Amino acid sequence: MYVVVTGGGGFLGSHLCDALLHRGDRVLCVDDFSTADPENTAHLRGHPGFTFVRADVTAAFDVPGPLDAVAHLASPASPPDYHRRPLETLAVGSRGTENALRLAVRHRARFVLASTSEVYGDPVVHPQREDYWGNVNPVGPRSVYDEAKRFAEALSMAYRRSLAANVGILRIFNTYGPRMRPHDGRVVSTFIRQALDGEPLTIYGDGSQTRSFCYVDDLVRGIIAMIDSDLSGPFNLGNPSERTVRELAELVRETTGSASGLEFRPLPVDDPARRRPVISRAQHELDWFPQVTIEEGLRNTVGWFRSRRGRSSAGRTA
Ligand code: NAD
Ligand code: UDP
Repeated sequence: MYVVVTGGGGFLGSHLCDALLHRGDRVLCVDDFSTADPENTAHLRGHPGFTFVRADVTAAFDVPGPLDAVAHLASPASPPDYHRRPLETLAVGSRGTENALRLAVRHRARFVLASTSEVYGDPVVHPQREDYWGNVNPVGPRSVYDEAKRFAEALSMAYRRSLAANVGILRIFNTYGPRMRPHDGRVVSTFIRQALDGEPLTIYGDGSQTRSFCYVDDLVRGIIAMIDSDLSGPFNLGNPSERTVRELAELVRETTGSASGLEFRPLPVDDPARRRPVISRAQHELDWFPQVTIEEGLRNTVGWFRSRRGRSSAGRTA
């Protein structure tokens, strides 16, 4: 296959590029490096199946075909990143998604949207199934991300209904692993960096809020299953094993052997209290199920963070 990956220089996108190339696909990665670490794809330079185009997908773009699939991952994903780039986040979710959809339609290619569990907002239904419509504050600080992704889903479905575009939607829950930027401000990367540096782990609120953390390799298998299918979804992709933020802090301290203390800070506005995916749809229709436990995933991630200590902190945002 020949696959365009927007946002392919980022955390998830670079792992997706690796996995596609590994199975013999050709990959064209489009990224503007706004939240990417160039090291994520440095090892692919010179790979015969890999092309990198530095471009902002909010401007119309085309690539030489024939093209089999477009995986649209371009978007800031970490709360500090999208708070720092609110207008760009809305633009990439709207104009960027439309440009990526147009590209797919022009080439009669499969289109996969990387949407998010944030479309459920601060959910009043728990755990979250795909038929839950969510509880999003449309004017709160998180809305630039949540509503951009909700619009991207609506646009994708409209392209499917009116133009028979081969569109599929994935709602990705919190995912972690090697190549997260140590300063991206997300909880797993932040706790690991703080634990390795002997700094206190910063817990927002009392740490009783929950997330369900999925290891990146599992997630990428799910994205590829979606690229290979003709299904529309939406499908939740995530690991249903739910942890409080406080439990995560303890796990990171155990995994790193760190003596770091805990520091409690105010909870950000509209921070979702609970989040856990129901994944039976993806399990039955995509034959997908996460396999990596949080203990194993954290060991791998901590190992990677250790191996990179002392190197440049590219993409520092928080
Ligand atoms: P990331 O920030 O590491 O990667 C996003 C990539 O998109 C970056 O390389 C960035 O430079 C690029 N980008 C942003 N705006 C762009 C634009 N206008 N043009 C071209 N490139 C642009 O984030 P990630 O964690 O890898 O997330 C990838 C996708 O998955 C995002 O769409 C995100 O919303 C979605 N997602 C991720 C998670 C998660 O836990 N990692 C959860 C839910 C959804
Ligand atoms: N969080 C925290 N300390 C941090 C960073 C985040 O306690 O240093 C909390 C945050 O308030 C949220 C959870 O961890 O409740 C997950 O945050 P993250 O930014 O990783 O993802 P999201 O909020 O998008 O699910």
